[in-house]
Amino acid sequence: MTDIWIRLLTEMEKTVSRPYFVTYFKDAGLLSYNNGILIIGVARPMYLQWHEHNTKDLFLEVAQKQGLTVTDVIFQVDSTLEGDKSRTVNLASHFPEKTKTRKLPGKQEVKTRDGLTSKILNPKYTLDSFIVGGNNQLAFAAATAVTKNLGTKFNPLFIYGGVGLGKTHLLQAIGNEVHALDPGKLVIYVTSETFTNEVVEAISKRNMNAFRRRYRFVDLLIIDDVQFFAGKDRTQEEFFHTFNALHEAGKQVIISSDRSPKELELIESRIVSRCEWGMTVDVKMPDYETRLAILYEKAKTYRSLISPDVFEFIAFNVHNSIRELEGVLMQVVAMIELENKTPTVEDVATAMKKLNKKIEFQGFNSHTPVLAKDMQTVCEFVSNHFNVMVSEITGAKRNREIMVPRQVSMYLCKQYLHLSLKKIGQFFGGRDHTSVMHAVKKLESLLKKDPLLKKDIEHLKQEMGV
Ligand code: ADP
Ligand code: MG
Repeated sequence: MTDIWIRLLTEMEKTVSRPYFVTYFKDAGLLSYNNGILIIGVARPMYLQWHEHNTKDLFLEVAQKQGLTVTDVIFQVDSTLEGDKSRTVNLASHFPEKTKTRKLPGKQEVKTRDGLTSKILNPKYTLDSFIVGGNNQLAFAAATAVTKNLGTKFNPLFIYGGVGLGKTHLLQAIGNEVHALDPGKLVIYVTSETFTNEVVEAISKRNMNAFRRRYRFVDLLIIDDVQFFAGKDRTQEEFFHTFNALHEAGKQVIISSDRSPKELELIESRIVSRCEWGMTVDVKMPDYETRLAILYEKAKTYRSLISPDVFEFIAFNVHNSIRELEGVLMQVVAMIELENKTPTVEDVATAMKKLNKKIEFQGFNSHTPVLAKDMQTVCEFVSNHFNVMVSEITGAKRNREIMVPRQVSMYLCKQYLHLSLKKIGQFFGGRDHTSVMHAVKKLESLLKKDPLLKKDIEHLKQEMGV
């Protein structure tokens, strides 16, 4: 049984992305293979659904590749599989990590009329799974409006913003939604690279007309990362004609780019001006709360296994892109699944350092002070040390003599009392969490430059009993 299982896994590993592979195949095993039916066991109910959704067809396919006759695949929960070395396979040693980029599972091919297919609509990108915050509210509203008023409301819809901020997610979510509302609609999602390649191919094969005809039939054309059209004149020319034809016919066009239309370089002005015809919206990096909400959404199945501290730590420290946020979360999931442990903030910090990610704020030190057990006493120690009053520390004054003790107090509370930024802010005169965040960051940067301040902190720590 294990031999067959390993053969199946060998194929699976080629298609399923690493984090999913190590998570969902870890405590799984082949329970039986009889009369063409594979019965596959998974250790926990939460894995069952994922397998049923994502791997059933894949198992049929890979079984065939391995020369097995399989007519059906059944998944069952068998909790005794967990940690059972005789019936499961140690993935880390049998399938060591090789490359970093792999395909995600579940990419669906949307078959449409006239033989057109859109291969890159990923079902995991939906409007439902898109977390809305101040940073992307308008983009989300416009996206939703477009799905309900295809070709009539905002045409084109132009979405721009930096890398990993959710443009592709939103674009594909619109495609998925339009398709869900009316499967007869012809939706095409292409990256600007694919579009360019198709133009080049059409030129070399001399079937430009076929190329044009294909694109003129669509109800919704989505072009992702249009900035790569820069300097590609022939591609721009074709895009211009396609755009005009679709726009005139009242068909919807959605475009994304890493910058606003005005900032697009080496793109003909007639295209830029068309990009601005409809609605232009941007997506930015979400604020701390939205980042936290995104983490919770992405970690739904693991939420109870990950401590709130860890979520807060990640949301606090990752602020360049949501893709990066997800990457760190995947590390955490891997720790849970591969090492069977509940990661602490220190574990996550170590993992992030390995990935060369800068940690601006360590937070949540594992030592709890013996003497200063609450914010009031922390402030009292600081107050004695710097000769200022506690009421001044928690008050509103902003002169330097008070600012440093205040920052020190906040830093110590964050570092040793395991409290959320929000709670600390409340105690310090009802400040919001961002002020606490800035104070702590500020102090951390001062500490790097100021040996005397470092001594102060060491001294205070001793007094607090850390
Ligand atoms: P971009 O195309 O802007 O580079 P992506 O759309 O590929 O970024 O987003 C990167 C990752 O972050 C994706 O996995 C996506 O699901 C996730 N993501 C981005 N924004 C959000 C959001 N608002 N809610 C949930 N997930 C998001
Ligand atoms: Mg993208």
